[in-house]
Formats: sequence, C-alpha cells, structure tokens
Amino acid sequence: MEGDKVQVSIRVRPLIQREKDAGDTINWKYDKNLIQAYNPETKCLTGQPYTFDGIFHDKVDTAEVYHQVVSPIVEKSLQGYNGTVLCYGQTSSGKTHTLYGTEKEDGIISLTAKHLFQLINGDETRTYYIRVGLLEVYNEKVSDLLNNGSHVEIKDKNGVAFPHDLKELEVFNSQEMLSAAKTVQAKRKIGETQMNKESSRSHTIVRILIESVPNDNEEE
Ligand code: ADP
Ligand code: MG
Repeated sequence: MEGDKVQVSIRVRPLIQREKDAGDTINWKYDKNLIQAYNPETKCLTGQPYTFDGIFHDKVDTAEVYHQVVSPIVEKSLQGYNGTVLCYGQTSSGKTHTLYGTEKEDGIISLTAKHLFQLINGDETRTYYIRVGLLEVYNEKVSDLLNNGSHVEIKDKNGVAFPHDLKELEVFNSQEMLSAAKTVQAKRKIGETQMNKESSRSHTIVRILIESVPNDNEEE
C-alpha cells in the first residue's frame, strides 16, 4: 500500500572549509538513484553501486529535499496517515543543517511547519488542532523535553509503541511550532565528539499530532 511505503534518499553535502583545507574530495559518483564509491587516484569506481529512492547532489537546497521527500508525507498526514521522517547519518554528515536550517535557509522542520499550517489554513471544510511533543532518546533513556526532561515510559498498544503521558503543547501557527521544536536543540544533551563540536549523541523526536473535525456547513 502506498501509505506504508518506506523510502530512503541520500543527501550529499558539499565539502566544508575544514575538509577543503585538508584537500579532501567527494569520493562518490552518483546520479538520481545510484551511488558508487570512486577512487580519485585511479579514477575508477570501486565497490558495488547502491540504489536509493533519491540522491540529492551537493548543490541541491533543503527546499528541494523537502519538496521531494517530506512534502508528500505532510500531505498524507492531513488525510489521517501516520508519517515519519527520519534523518540518519554519521556525525557531521549534515543532519542538523538539513533539519534546522541556517539563518539563510529554512530547514526541514521549519518547512514542515509552514507547509502544514498553509494546508490547514487553506482548508475551510475542517477545523484542525495541532499539538507538538518533544522527546529525547539518549543512552537508551527516553525523556520529555517539554517536561523538564522527565522520564517517559514507552508503552505498547496493539503492537504500536507510543510515549506514555508525554507533555504536549498546542500550537496555532508555524512560528509556535518552530519555536517549540527549537527548544529541543537548546535542551539536548550534547556529547561532544571529535568530528564536530556541535554534535551530540542524542536523538530527538518532534512529534506532531493532528486532529480535525468537519466544520458545520449549515450556517445559521
Ligand atoms: P550532523 O548534524 O549530521 O552532525 P551538521 O548538520 O552539523 O552534521 O553538518 C556538518 C557541517 O557541514 C556543518 O558545518 C554544516 O554547516 C555543514 N553542512 C551540512 N550540510 C550542508 C549543506 N547541505 N550545505 C552546506 N553546508 C552543509
Ligand atoms: Mg547534528
């Protein structure tokens, strides 16, 4: 079923200054769906090619990644489908950049918030209620970032795991949703690694709950 499909895409980030200074190169060759390691010395492709649903090259902006990967999930979520976007990668691969963006460029979270409220505000047939929950998984422990990092129990309901008694914040516009999500960044447990000073070994989950009721059309 379309709604159940898992898609995996890759975003190749450009070299950062430190890597350029070290004379590093991007040792991958790729097109829209295939990626393969490349040896610049022998000028040969090495190893096997890997196939993905999408490969975004280093000059593609976050808005394009959003448009292709996340936007359909947001649209489906308003139709009642559960959707998840997981950003995965080794330290310094570009997760924070992609999710939170920069001063110049919106990240996935900001684009999601704006898109979601744009769709909601454009729908005159229903009234929507949006709540946000923020979780952190660190050292196998789950905590509630909207509730002073208190421990969250994960319960099982018909084979579906969910956070029990998670604090939720009702949000009324994209700005409120974004500032709630950004508190995650401030409260995360940062475990510095050698690869990237800003990096953390924690995982954060921004959980968006959407409820809606049909509007009463019989105006009186
Ligand atoms: P992660 O969160 O996966 O550890 P970061 O998002 O912190 O990685 O990215 C590592 C470095 O690369 C940062 O300096 C970031 O600004 C830069 N970077 C990541 N992705 C891009 C991109 N698409 N374009 C430009 N710079 C990027
Ligand atoms: Mg990061």
